[in-house]
Amino acid sequence: MRKFTYLVPKTLDEAVSLHESYGEKAKYIAGGTDVLVKIKEGKMKPDYLISLKHILDQERPLLNHESGELSIGAFTTHRSIEKTSTVRQNFPILHDAVSNIGSVQIRNVATIGGNLVNAVPSADGAIPLITLDAKAHIYGTKGQRKAELRRFFLGPGQCDLDRGEILTKLVIPPLDARTGGAYVKHGRRSAMELPMLGAGVLLSLEEDMATCAKVRICLGVAAPTPLRCIQAEKYLAGKAITESSLLEAGKIAAEESKVRDSIRGVAWYRREMVGVLVKRMGIKAFERAK
Ligand SMILES: Cc1cc2nc3c(=O)[nH]c(=O)nc-3n(C[C@H](O)[C@H](O)[C@H](O)COP(=O)(O)OP(=O)(O)OC[C@H]3O[C@@H](n4cnc5c(N)ncnc54)[C@H](O)[C@@H]3O)c2cc1C
Repeated sequence: MRKFTYLVPKTLDEAVSLHESYGEKAKYIAGGTDVLVKIKEGKMKPDYLISLKHILDQERPLLNHESGELSIGAFTTHRSIEKTSTVRQNFPILHDAVSNIGSVQIRNVATIGGNLVNAVPSADGAIPLITLDAKAHIYGTKGQRKAELRRFFLGPGQCDLDRGEILTKLVIPPLDARTGGAYVKHGRRSAMELPMLGAGVLLSLEEDMATCAKVRICLGVAAPTPLRCIQAEKYLAGKAITESSLLEAGKIAAEESKVRDSIRGVAWYRREMVGVLVKRMGIKAFERAK
């Protein structure tokens, strides 16, 4: 394996300034499950790896009981999110996603921040966080800024971070009343496999517990970046949630998708499955909202 110098800054400012000094030769490393694989395969050739381990919040996701906001430090591992009871009970769509990433060994070290910054179309963490309308907190030489996660992904492997910027935290706003959500990772195997398709639905109901007040539908691996299905969302809003309305929403989502052939699956099958999975996740989200 290629040799590199491992740097361990103690503060955000130190990390950013190290990155500035070494420029293109440097790369941040969190859990390393993407970085180290790429270095071994020769796809990434950094001379310096700057560890984020000692500067980013590694605590479990924290629910602010007054505001209802959920904060998740970017260095939090998938396993830590999975084991947090607030996530399991109140944000099951996120639990669905993180508890199926890789294996327990991978989830013990891989972080949510690394999953998002890696920005592959198959990143399982992105879809539920977009449906939950998460905001990304970012730190760099110009100080702090916030970005909407749904605008964070610019293309495969590209995200809205300037050179040397660090994703520090994700904040999920309070959920509307009577809200439920569900995510599914669809692939040939359930473990140690990137998804062929990911589908997440977050649904809020009117007081009658039958009509859709608000819905967000997001797909992974259905386009170069996570895809919000705006037309399908518009169709469902204000309608009674039934098998047939969800079937129709799934068909519209399939039309909106920009699926393609790849080694994990062919386009026609993916498009077909978008319809099936959106309907299935809609039913599950409806049950959870109730
Ligand atoms: C066997 C295996 C199975 C996997 N299965 C899945 C799966 O099922 N689903 C899935 O979505 N992924 C999967 N992955 C991919 C990977 O585990 C995840 O993307 C993981 O969350 C990456 O996190 P990390 O902390 O290891 O990132 P790292 O490898 O440390 O970093 C990834 C990238 O993000 C940058 N970075 C990391 N953190 C920050 C930050 N806070 N700010 C700025 N830049 C940062 C790094 O410079 C690097 O470019 C798998 C990987 C392996 C090896």
